[in-house]
Amino acid sequence: MPRLHLRVRRAHALTAAAATLLAAALTVVTPTAAHAWGPGAEPTLPYALPALPDVPVRGCQSTVANPSAPTGASPALQVIYAWHDGNGNNYEANVEYIAKVVDRIDWALDQSSNYDQHVKLSCRTGYDTSTYAGYARSLIVPEKIDAGTNPSTSSAVVRSDLISAGYDDSNRIYLVFTDFASNSDAYVCPTGGGYNSSGGHCSAVTESWTTGVGGHELGHVLGAPHAWMAETGAPYYPEIMYGWWDNWNLDPGFRNYYDPSELSASFYLDPHPSTSKGNIANHPMLTAPTCCDVGANNDSLTAEQRTFEATTPGSSTSTLTSSGGWHQVTPSCGTSGISCTYFDGRRSAQFNTYTGPSNSSSISLTNRPAVTAGNTYKFFARLRANAAVTTQLQLAWYNSGGTLLSTSSGTASTLASNWLEYRLTATAPANATSVRVTLAVPNQSTTGNYAINIDSLQLNDCTANTGGNCRYDT
Ligand SMILES: [Zn+2]
Repeated sequence: MPRLHLRVRRAHALTAAAATLLAAALTVVTPTAAHAWGPGAEPTLPYALPALPDVPVRGCQSTVANPSAPTGASPALQVIYAWHDGNGNNYEANVEYIAKVVDRIDWALDQSSNYDQHVKLSCRTGYDTSTYAGYARSLIVPEKIDAGTNPSTSSAVVRSDLISAGYDDSNRIYLVFTDFASNSDAYVCPTGGGYNSSGGHCSAVTESWTTGVGGHELGHVLGAPHAWMAETGAPYYPEIMYGWWDNWNLDPGFRNYYDPSELSASFYLDPHPSTSKGNIANHPMLTAPTCCDVGANNDSLTAEQRTFEATTPGSSTSTLTSSGGWHQVTPSCGTSGISCTYFDGRRSAQFNTYTGPSNSSSISLTNRPAVTAGNTYKFFARLRANAAVTTQLQLAWYNSGGTLLSTSSGTASTLASNWLEYRLTATAPANATSVRVTLAVPNQSTTGNYAINIDSLQLNDCTANTGGNCRYDT
């Protein structure tokens, strides 16, 4: 896994509308004029980032006298402003703006889930960090890239300079904002700082001074891959590790690389045959996640209920209970240990309906997640079948005595052979304390067996999200 993640270079020129917004927001700092590098348009999904004056100040978690030799310091992220003679040293004009971008990247991490989790930031002594001006200068260290030249200086040249200057401490990962044209990229360092196991320098370099690109590249250093459908490697856009131009949020399904609710869970980071797994919520440069605050997203299920990764293909699993049929983890079809088809990870579940006179069959999560009466929930599932079988999502509400109160049923949908996402939004009735999460086949044919594949479940408590908004559809 330790390898360079290259982000495709794209223009970051400000649109007129974005420039107007930036000008209105910039009461504290002044950005440089728009280049191919520097300030740029920010992602606005799942909801708007805070305007610059409103960005929470993250503050310093590890303060050292010499940022290039933080010997013995606690793990933290060091932010660097890189300049060269071609464009000059514009540190004073830009330091507070870049500090706001760093604070906003931290906000994006925290707001991605209902867990409170933050980046640990390294600062240097000698500044009054009770003011934003002092904090920004304490946070961000300028570094001249001696070998840098116009029109473009590669991230490799930037890294060589940083290493020569001593910025390769095992207690540090690095986020480098270039004040010149460069490629934006990062090395994956999932367990700590300095260098990864292949000798890659634990740094993210970005020419784009944005939450979208800076957050994306920092995500790589923390161990996040590009977001994709694991079986095919097809891109999965609505989050920062693929769609950084639209989205600032990490892993909305809690199933690709970030699950702050279950630190023991780990996820396949890249398509087969890669065996690398991880969960960046464990990274030492992040604070321990603490439940619960608001955010863009949450999930009431366990990692195993979402992904069915713990059971051998072809075996039954107690995570699920079925009636009018039987279930197993989807068997292999050539590669041992890997289901024949899956959306995330390497495995999915399979519900096999019986031939027979049954009017309906169903498969449910065996354990009923807890719910709060009056809250709205959204149940997501990825489903597929080779035959055109009609299914329906259901949420069956129970009281504390285990009595069924009512059942909310979704639209009857005919499955396709590709993995589509199906959803059901419903509100927990009075006295509800738990919910049975079910996939039903409401009008089962008597003419044949169906095999339905199930993966990527999620039960989102919409009421608990920022603004009461459900996780969006994908
Ligand atoms: Zn990338």
